[in-house]
Amino acid sequence: MSLKTAAYQVIIIGAGLAGLSAAEMLSGLGAKVLLLDEGMQPGGQYLKRPLPLLRRLATIHDNDKMHKKGMELLDSLNGLELEIQACTQVLGLEPDSQGGGMVWGETKDGKLSAWRAPHIILAAGARERFIPFKGWTLPGVISTGAVQLMLKGSGILPADKVMVAGCGPLPLAVAGELVKAGARVPHVWDPTGFLQKLGTLRKGAIAWEKAAQAIKYQALVMLKGGRLRHRVAILEARGSGQLEEVVTVRINRSGKPKGGSERVIPARCLAVGHGFVPNIELAQQAGCELEYDADRGGWVVRVDAGLNTSLPGIYAAGEITGIAGAKISQNQGCRAAYAIVKKLELGKVLRASAYLDTLTMLRKDEEHLAVLINRLSIPPAGLWDLVPDNTIICRCEDITFGQVRPLLNSGVYDLSELKRSTRAGMGPCQGRTCGPILEALAQAASRGKEPPPPLPARAPVKPFRLSALLDLETTGDKK
Ligand SMILES: Cc1cc2nc3c(=O)[nH]c(=O)nc-3n(C[C@H](O)[C@H](O)[C@H](O)COP(=O)(O)OP(=O)(O)OC[C@H]3O[C@@H](n4cnc5c(N)ncnc54)[C@H](O)[C@@H]3O)c2cc1C
Repeated sequence: MSLKTAAYQVIIIGAGLAGLSAAEMLSGLGAKVLLLDEGMQPGGQYLKRPLPLLRRLATIHDNDKMHKKGMELLDSLNGLELEIQACTQVLGLEPDSQGGGMVWGETKDGKLSAWRAPHIILAAGARERFIPFKGWTLPGVISTGAVQLMLKGSGILPADKVMVAGCGPLPLAVAGELVKAGARVPHVWDPTGFLQKLGTLRKGAIAWEKAAQAIKYQALVMLKGGRLRHRVAILEARGSGQLEEVVTVRINRSGKPKGGSERVIPARCLAVGHGFVPNIELAQQAGCELEYDADRGGWVVRVDAGLNTSLPGIYAAGEITGIAGAKISQNQGCRAAYAIVKKLELGKVLRASAYLDTLTMLRKDEEHLAVLINRLSIPPAGLWDLVPDNTIICRCEDITFGQVRPLLNSGVYDLSELKRSTRAGMGPCQGRTCGPILEALAQAASRGKEPPPPLPARAPVKPFRLSALLDLETTGDKK
């Protein structure tokens, strides 16, 4: 018995900037394309457009050039013969030795479906990275990405007063967006150093552009009485059943706390984020080769110059190949599409090539900037020593650091072994949150430069409803 499949020339998984750019080029040139995304509408993490009923309420509208271009790209899809299936989470990919393969997942109506194509582009993007601290599971402690989604997608403020903490570009941007939306942000705490940030400015024009954006956000926060402090980490979030206060501590360059510098600050809402990690699970499950590069966000899908993965007919584009920002994601989407256009012999290679030339050429400094942003997103290693044993690290299975630490101390750094021994990573999120945490802990404990391989990924890569199995449409053939 096998799943009944619908056939396409190209299937694209992920409708962020990378997937959308690829879809626009391929569909515009006449290829039969299916674009799948688990979100309610296309756009990914960057192009968040409120649902029609909520549009009036949405408080934040990005005004930068790249965002405007992205929105135009979204609008241009309406004129194309492109099949987009939103609210469809892809659960597995079975590669075909001839190229491409079968993709299957749960659709909007809660049913399982499968699709087949000789060319598949994986463009699943990235998610936030979390560093646990005591009390981080308390209601009132949320991620910076969640705050952004509330503001941009629904026009909701998480609270009137929000503390923001973490490193990388998102926390300060979110603090500025919160202020614009009318919230008070009394404190923004960044565990990295100011001088470290200044270092980025030597790396070219694009870094100055980003720095100007950061200064704008900082000014917004300060004009409303807020303060941005560097080399400050969260020691603890406290409260009975809800966040009531945050304990901060000053740290040195390596993350060691400065004795006597603890401060207790009343808080009802704390937004935290520490950079991004690529969503590699689907590629990993299919058997695509991965590689480790801390300057690209950790484990990424290995691609060649044409965005081919190690499997025939399977390409990867955007942040699953490395955290590098919106422009690079868009550019990669187009390059992956171009590689397919050449193979499909749509007879329009020249048109595609001309289109590719019109894209902003990637400047070297943009790639430099991506590296620096990833470096600024990694908090000092000493922060791991601040995590007490009773801190939960796997939220699904309630596994504490104290349950993992003895294994690490006895030299167990293999994540599968840690998972089998402790159940960390066995819950519904399948290690999406605790996987990168375990990786960092094992890396710190082994004092190695590279972390161990990531937790293994198997299909289904995401949880789905059992009821979807009941009315499965199959071909009826026996295997
Ligand atoms: C939380 C967060 C907030 C961000 N905010 C900003 C910002 O404010 N400004 C900025 O410049 N950059 C921001 N970025 C970075 C920005 O998203 C990237 O630079 C760029 O847009 C990435 O494009 P992408 O196409 O690679 O991935 P994404 O835009 O992440 O798109 C990936 C898409 O894949 C879909 N997907 C993933 N897995 C599956 C699956 N199994 N089945 C179906 N669909 C799937 C997701 O739903 C998503 O729509 C943010 C990133 C994150 C993670």
